Formats: sequence, structure tokens, C-alpha cells
Amino acid sequence: MNILILGGGGREHALAWAIRQNPKCDRLIVAPGNAGIALLAECAALDVLDPAAVVAFCEAEAVDFVVIGPEAPLAAGVADALAAAGVLAFGPSAAAARLEASKAFTKEICDACGAPTAAWARFDAAEPARAYIREKGAPIVVKADGLAAGKGVIVAMTEAEALDAVDEMFGGAFGAAGAEVVIEEFMAGEEASFFVLCDGTSVLPVGTAQDHKRVGDGDTGPNTGGMGAYSPAPVLTDAIARQALEDIVKPTVAEMARRGTPYCGVLYAGLMIEGGRARLVEYNVRFGDPECQVLMMRLGAQALDLLLACAEGRLAGAGVNWADDHALTVVMAAQGYPGDYARGSVIRGLDALPADSANMVFHAGTAARDGQVVANGGRVLNVTARGATLAEAQARAYAMVDRIDWPEGFCRRDIGWRAL
Ligand code: ATP
Repeated sequence: MNILILGGGGREHALAWAIRQNPKCDRLIVAPGNAGIALLAECAALDVLDPAAVVAFCEAEAVDFVVIGPEAPLAAGVADALAAAGVLAFGPSAAAARLEASKAFTKEICDACGAPTAAWARFDAAEPARAYIREKGAPIVVKADGLAAGKGVIVAMTEAEALDAVDEMFGGAFGAAGAEVVIEEFMAGEEASFFVLCDGTSVLPVGTAQDHKRVGDGDTGPNTGGMGAYSPAPVLTDAIARQALEDIVKPTVAEMARRGTPYCGVLYAGLMIEGGRARLVEYNVRFGDPECQVLMMRLGAQALDLLLACAEGRLAGAGVNWADDHALTVVMAAQGYPGDYARGSVIRGLDALPADSANMVFHAGTAARDGQVVANGGRVLNVTARGATLAEAQARAYAMVDRIDWPEGFCRRDIGWRAL
């Protein structure tokens, strides 16, 4: 079959790498792709936020199946347009994608279905929000309702910090995303990510992961899009995963179906785990980046069969063939990230690295220039390895990192520390 993947980061490189290995895949196109993706798929220039353009492309290129990587095309209604045109696609409708696009909507769904999460309240004006903070006290969490690229959440340790956050949000710091503000109880515990495929009614867990958000070793410095990840997450034991599935994911999927907006695609539940139980922090409506890289490393070619079963509503009969393995990815970023950084520095040594079922360098922000790979983003490479143990996966990943010749780049040296 002809398959189109939308996106051009490390997540999409990992999806393309896994899908390419499946004999069902004849032609593989990624839009827009990047320099690493170009080694295993055709890259196409296409406005992935324009639903009509995506449909027209699929018709012109006889695309049989579309995998939508990032959240923006989902929120823009690309999955809806493909469904209307009769093109099979993996990814939720815009109505179902509200589980990521609106924090207040997710909280409403949790309340309606009884899913455990932090106590909360919503505000569309500053004064009642301030009064609520004074009543509840700190620590407390203030969130812009809409999409703010991970920056619209303030975990306030003091009342003053929370009040400042409210002023900032209603002052327009996050534009329309901050027109409404959600204030919620601070949850203590350890965070982990739980990934479940949903076809509207049935659900199938496809892995757990933990990431490292801070830029520096020892989880110090500013937040980033993620500096590394590993799977599975030991804190998400089988028992807690079962509880999260029964108490959080399944009731959510049932509630979405009841409302006439069934959830189809991957549901990424961000969980807070404390005292042997999980509560929901947030939902994302797509695979995480870089979590997808470690999930794909573990799933390999079967990923395509699972995504197809999900899109075709056949999850009830599907299962994952698990190897008892571990995967870990180290993000190499351009110096200066997550602040200002330069583009265009040359990365050498990639050709000499292994590229197999246990070792892969996924490209996040790269471009090809005069036959060389150059940095073209903040997060640039995802050096990913698999092993019988997490320690083995970590050793393999850093062995590759050490062979990459890129003086303008850096990475954390402690990815996986929490689990090791
Ligand atoms: P991201 O894109 O980084 O996941 P987001 O904007 O979608 O962020 P959330 O995931 O809701 O926002 O919050 C970001 C982070 O803030 C969480 O990963 C968690 O560490 C922290 N956080 C959010 N809500 C709470 C809470 N109620 N208690 C404690 N920490 C919280």
C-alpha cells in the first residue's frame, strides 16, 4: 500500500522507520520530512495544516493510508477531511482532538466519567481566579486552557507566583490560548506516559515511557520539548497500568463515544503516580516526541499493523507481540537550546554508525546541504538504542553519541537515571 506520514521530526522519522520494515508498505511518502527521513522515504512539500491540500495530494498520489504525526493538523481537521474523502487515516477528528487542545474540556470529560485527576476550576476573568488561589493556597497549578506549546503551565510553589501567572495569562501572554484559565490542585508523585491505541470503542496499550523535560543533567535548568526518553517506564507497573486503563482511559473513550465524538488514534495519557495509583495530568492526541522513538524501536514492523487495525476499527482482535526489551533515546540539541541557537552547523560521523533493529539515529531538526547533514532546529538528533536491559540500551545509545562529530551540539549524559 501507499502510505503518507504527515510531519517532519524525530517522531515521524521513527514512524517511517518502523512502517518501512513492514512488507505491506510499498510506497512511503513523508511531508515535509527531513534529511534522515529522506534516506528511507520520499519527502514531499505539502501544507499539512491545509485539509483540502492533504486530500488533493492523497488523490493525486493514490495514497491508501495516512498517519498524522503532530497535533496541529489534527486540530486543523485533517483527519475529518480525509474521512469525508474516504481516505483511511490514523489520528482523531478535530472534535476528539479537543482532549489535547482544551484543558478545561479534558477536565469536564474526567468529571463526567469519573476519571481520577486533580481537583480544578475554570475562569474567564482574573479577579475570581485570584480569589480561588487565595482560598486554596500554594502549591497550585495555573494553566492557559489552549495549546501553548508546553509553556502555558505554571506549577506555582507560592501564592504570589500563582497570582502573577494569572495576571500574565489574562494579560494576553498566551493569546487566545489564555482567554480561559484552569487552576488545579498540585499533585505530588512521579510522572509517566501511557500510550493506548483507541478505535472509538476498543483500546490497546502500546507501551509506557518516561521523558526528561529539563535541559540539564540531574533535571536542572529550563524546560524543553524533551531531552530523552526510555521505555518501558518501571514506575508504571502492570498493576498501575491496568488501573489507569480501567479508571482513566476506558471511561474517557466511552464518554467520548457517548457524546458522538468517538476517539480514534493514539491516546497519550500523562499520569502522576503516587501511592500505587495513577491520576491523569493531561491527554495528548498523538505520539510524544521523543517518546515515539523508543516505542517504535520496540514495536518495529508490527507498528503498521497496529495503526491499521486502529484506523479500521479492528483493535478488539489485535495484540502486541512484545519482546522483553528496553529502548532509550538521547536527544542531541544545538548549543543554546531551548533559548537561541544557530542553524547550519555540519554533523559528521552519522554514516559510520550502525542502523539496525537495535541502533538508530532518528533525525529531528536536520536538513541536507551539499551532500552533508546540517542542523536545522533546536532538537536535532535522537540517538536511539534497544537492549535486553535499560542499562544496555543506555550504553549503546551513548556509544553512538560519542561517535557523532558535532561540536556545535550537546546532550544530557544521564538519560534514564531515574529508572537505573
Ligand atoms: P507539555 O506539552 O509539556 O506536556 P502541556 O502544556 O500540555 O505541557 P501539562 O502536561 O498539563 O501541560 O502540564 C505540564 C507539566 O506541568 C506536566 O508534565 C507536569 O509536570 C506539570 N503539572 C501539570 N499539572 C500538574 C498538577 N496538577 N500537579 C503537579 N504538576 C502538574
